[in-house]
Amino acid sequence: MLHVDLDAFFASVEVLDDPSLAGRPVAVGGAGERGVIASASYEARRYGVRSAMSTALARRLCPSLVVLPGRFERYGEYSRRFHGLVAELTPVYEPLGLDEVFADLRSLARLGVEPVEAAHGLRRRLLDELSLRSGIGVARNKLFAKLASKAAKPRVEGGRLLEGEGVVWVDAATEERWLATLPVRALWGVGPATAAKLERLGLRAVRDLRGVSAATLARSVGPSMAATLVAFAAGEDDREVVTDRPLKSLGHEETFARSLVGREALADALRTQAGVVARTLRERDLLARTLTVLVRFDDGAQVSRSQTLGYGLDDEGALVELAEALAGSIELAGSVRLLGLHASGLRARAGGGVQLRLDLGTSAHEGPPEERAEARQVERAALRDAIDEVRRRFGRDALATAGELSEDGVEVATQRGGYPVGPEDPRGRR
Ligand SMILES: [Mg+2]
Repeated sequence: MLHVDLDAFFASVEVLDDPSLAGRPVAVGGAGERGVIASASYEARRYGVRSAMSTALARRLCPSLVVLPGRFERYGEYSRRFHGLVAELTPVYEPLGLDEVFADLRSLARLGVEPVEAAHGLRRRLLDELSLRSGIGVARNKLFAKLASKAAKPRVEGGRLLEGEGVVWVDAATEERWLATLPVRALWGVGPATAAKLERLGLRAVRDLRGVSAATLARSVGPSMAATLVAFAAGEDDREVVTDRPLKSLGHEETFARSLVGREALADALRTQAGVVARTLRERDLLARTLTVLVRFDDGAQVSRSQTLGYGLDDEGALVELAEALAGSIELAGSVRLLGLHASGLRARAGGGVQLRLDLGTSAHEGPPEERAEARQVERAALRDAIDEVRRRFGRDALATAGELSEDGVEVATQRGGYPVGPEDPRGRR
């Protein structure tokens, strides 16, 4: 289990958008008489400013504090990009608010990827690509992962800022130590009210909970919280990652540094995108029935075309055929700044074959685009399996279509839209 918590998120976004704030104590919160701090930069925390503190008190502690009203739309943009980076690790993630995410890394572990390595990689990307700092915890359950991300963060001691480790992995010895030393207040869901009730029973540390029966606890805090506390005190937490909702669409969008001119350039870019979409579909065992091509021109005008089929696709060649046919029906009114390819109408591939039409031709090179696409989908199942197996064993860049190869290796698009796509390296070519 992975838990990521962005550092001083709202305040950090404000500093990113206004570099003149860098190094100054900054807080986001209500400025009025009854205002409360929602987020404080570490410079502000050195003065004792904390979230949930009244703004009035924060200003007394730190007279030079810059208090800004929240811009939640902007934080949402950063949050979506944050979730996008997590989604490239695994689709099994659960956002908590704008700046925290749980992710289940078991599927990565099965592929031989070390969860701690993945955590370091994610933290680096958050820093390199979004300029956001974070604390990440890796543990066997949510309870310890959340405690670990907190332990990974920077902290203020005696007015001095001490760097955190960034990533903390919780081994069995650490679990024991934390359970023995942490106050009950550190546990998930134990707020001041519950803590006060436990205090009346003489229970301050997690360790104290161990000798108490659930029935005794239940009389003070209710049966549900009692059961949770007993489990937590034993280090047990069987809560799974709850993913948002079934994936409705996935896709790939690219904004070009130099706009594309002409059909040839457009077709080249489409082929690359179809490769990304096809791989992502297969990694998730999904088939797509609808394909949409989106084109935005330099003047901002936008056109999209889509087609829905009677069967599902995950074949790259089939996706290319269809995407090219769709793009071909778009009148090129100028040079193309953004190109997107989206797959929707998704369903699980699990065990399912392709519903063949009775008049299916044997040639993949004749007939209207949707029939050619279907023929390809049927013909190349074995090839797809072989390609996926090679990539599983030797890495995603071990194998590419000729269209994706350049002198620098495999070319990968550099930007993507708000849709989850595959775990390609978005930093560019490799
Ligand atoms: Mg945070």
